[in-house]
Amino acid sequence: MATDKIQRTLAMVKPDAINRSAEIEKIILDEGFTIVERRRVRLTRAEAAEFYNEHRGKPFYESLLEYITSGEVLALILAGEEAITHWRRILGPTRVSQARQEAPDSIRARFGDHANDSHNAAHGSDSPTSAQREIKFFFPDLTLEPVLTGEGAKEYLSHAVSPTLVRALTELCKVRPDDPIVWLADWLLVNNPNKSSGD
Ligand code: GDP
Repeated sequence: MATDKIQRTLAMVKPDAINRSAEIEKIILDEGFTIVERRRVRLTRAEAAEFYNEHRGKPFYESLLEYITSGEVLALILAGEEAITHWRRILGPTRVSQARQEAPDSIRARFGDHANDSHNAAHGSDSPTSAQREIKFFFPDLTLEPVLTGEGAKEYLSHAVSPTLVRALTELCKVRPDDPIVWLADWLLVNNPNKSSGD
């Protein structure tokens, strides 16, 4: 069996496609991604310059900043197997005309601006390093634990999750509450082993 490689990536719906973000989010979910966080924001020029710092000095830099600050964007953290390449694959090629020719079902072919080749509807991180940087850029206060898979995940579950869950489910069987889901949620809140004493 193939070993799962769960990753997180940063997706961004750009201003030209923001009105179609519901359709794009549906594609994301249909593709099996989990949307971990979402934030709609209008970037300032300084923020856009920071985000696209690697393109500073290129001929299209100024028009890129103008485009990306022309309206709100929707930033999404996506999680899934090989999320970085998976999301880039369904985005399609950078240029809308090329996307329409080579990947007509891709997001950039379907939602990009036919009149402007670089108004390509959405962005995706291109490597684990840029995913980390771009997630931090849009969600600076978010603490994300490393994504564990395989033995690491089993170990985490057996140390950090199972002991509390077994206690909770044993208690649930004894009490037999009318609404077991609400009861379990309340029990976990009260008995959360990570709760600080001040909570
Ligand atoms: P991406 O990773 O596929 O988004 O491509 P890049 O990182 O190379 O470029 C970032 C963004 O800049 C692209 O998504 C386009 O919106 C824009 N862009 C890239 N190349 C050009 C270009 O040659 N001209 C213009 N006007 N915009 C470009």
